Amino acid sequence: MSTLPMELRARSVGPWPMNSYALVCPTTRQSVLIDPGADPDTLQEMLAETLPAAILITHTHPDHVGALDEMRARLNIPVMAHPGPHFQNMALSADRWLNHGDVVQVGEHSLRVYHTPGHIGDIICFAVEGDHRVIVGDTIFEGGPGQTWSAEDFQTTLRTLREIILAWPDDAVCYPGHGPSFRLGDKRAAIVAFLAKDHGSFFGDATWEM
Ligand SMILES: [Zn+2]
Ligand SMILES: [Zn+2]
Repeated sequence: MSTLPMELRARSVGPWPMNSYALVCPTTRQSVLIDPGADPDTLQEMLAETLPAAILITHTHPDHVGALDEMRARLNIPVMAHPGPHFQNMALSADRWLNHGDVVQVGEHSLRVYHTPGHIGDIICFAVEGDHRVIVGDTIFEGGPGQTWSAEDFQTTLRTLREIILAWPDDAVCYPGHGPSFRLGDKRAAIVAFLAKDHGSFFGDATWEM
């Protein structure tokens, strides 16, 4: 059976700004809203002419969930997120908890969940199955990995890069929570070089060149 690829929509929302995404099954028009960070009207417009089926959360930093309550009330659909720990132990009530390896069905398509801790403990990526696109949240950006707030978390980021991210194919295209998308193959050499260096007890905002 040949299926049309999922449609990916994106909107830049909020003051940071942050990328909200929608993935749409072109056959059934079912969609998922990923990271309702801000600007509910913009998010609603992004979902136009689709049948929203779930809200997916890459992680619970405020810039990614700022409009969650509003969008949940407007759409009345299940919220899916990693079980945590969540940002500042916020009381997040999900309808479905997502763990590494789980699959989320969207019409005729499915998304595979990767747990990629470091930036925060509850961060997950959504890879479109049979496709090359991955929604990565703040796991990895074109210029470096997501920020960390302790040396321990930075070491966790290094392990995530080594064990999860580098295992993806070069053709994987990463869609981050901030800034432009990029092809993993174009960054692989920089990531490998970054991992080969001794960063001591560093934590914070890292770049591949450091
Ligand atoms: Zn974040
Ligand atoms: Zn963010």
